Amino acid sequence: MIIFGTRGYLYQLAVLTLVCGWCGNPAAHTLRKRVTKFTLFFVPLFPFSTKFATQCTFCGGEQQIPKEQAEQLLAQHMAAQQGNPFGQAPGQGQGHPGYAPGGPGRNPYQN
Ligand SMILES: [Zn+2]
Repeated sequence: MIIFGTRGYLYQLAVLTLVCGWCGNPAAHTLRKRVTKFTLFFVPLFPFSTKFATQCTFCGGEQQIPKEQAEQLLAQHMAAQQGNPFGQAPGQGQGHPGYAPGGPGRNPYQN
């Protein structure tokens, strides 16, 4: 008898201050990575799904984001932590969260 299944792992990558797409507050968001691994006899073998999401600590709203956006947010976060003056260029990284509840990658300020 072969026992196989999946197992999810949750990693918290960073805490970012973003304008929430749900409640509209500039609140701390946790950036999370969820990895789903294929398991055989309860031993995780390899990951077959990696998803990224942000969760607002103010309202608890969670938003799935594409990997590219997660890496971008993480890069901005690293730049800000190192005090890099180029990490927060005017008109970038502030003013809008870059995502909307309507779906990943959509700009809520378009249309
Ligand atoms: Zn919120």
